[in-house]
Amino acid sequence: MGAAATRLLGEGDPHPVDLRRLHGSSEIFLTCDHAGRRLPASLGSLGLEAAEMDRHIAWDIGAAGLAERFSERLDAALVMQTYSRLVIDCNRPPTAPTSIATISEATEIAGNRDLSPQQIHARVREVFDPYHDRIDAELELRRRAGRPTVLVSVHSFTPVFHGERRPWDVGLLYNRDPAFAQLLSDALEGSGLVVGHNEPYSVSDVTDYTIPVHGERRGIPHVMIEVRQDLIEKDAGQDAWAERLSDLLRQALGQMNDGGTGGGARRSSRRQGGLARQRNRQ
Ligand SMILES: [Zn+2]
Repeated sequence: MGAAATRLLGEGDPHPVDLRRLHGSSEIFLTCDHAGRRLPASLGSLGLEAAEMDRHIAWDIGAAGLAERFSERLDAALVMQTYSRLVIDCNRPPTAPTSIATISEATEIAGNRDLSPQQIHARVREVFDPYHDRIDAELELRRRAGRPTVLVSVHSFTPVFHGERRPWDVGLLYNRDPAFAQLLSDALEGSGLVVGHNEPYSVSDVTDYTIPVHGERRGIPHVMIEVRQDLIEKDAGQDAWAERLSDLLRQALGQMNDGGTGGGARRSSRRQGGLARQRNRQ
């Protein structure tokens, strides 16, 4: 098979990386791995009914709108992925068996079955790599410029997964470094919200990419925020939650800059969640 036959994106397809306020003044650097639900023309419908592309299996409903509002309110840089997670999941190592899902919740993704190594490589090269290379390049620029940076990865989760109702309004996810998540959790205390620590699932090197690679390996403070989709599916919800959570992010930043991260390790005993939940990731 020649190179031309394994091209994924064509002239009519948008760039895989969508950027906002790269020169924003905030220490917060936002990413949205599951922002988009586009499919490259070369993949057709992936064998799916159009309605499936509106569902949580295709993207993180409401997450892009929330992330854009965070970016606006905080004057923070934002890097978003344009294509559906069903093309390739940009929060999984490309080596993970579920990187290009053949089944998501109960839906079979016919267009992802029996891919050739060249087809798989095209998805990595044309969607996954440009997205993560851009995040890496921007974080490197900030490091060289001596700009303090906190990585905030914005996601949303479906209220019901495999028939199980999820009680949390917001999940704060992390693995090796709970410090910034703990500061945000402290800021959320008294809010009346149901906050999950490493719920609805936890972060690991096997099931995640953005936090382990851009947060942990770079040694910068970070948190993954998951908001329940029914709260942010519409503009009004995105406005309200962006306002609420931006204020709390500012508070957590303030605490961190006042030296408030010392409690992170001590308080991490509150951490919950575990391996059993790692597979439930929608
Ligand atoms: Zn997500």
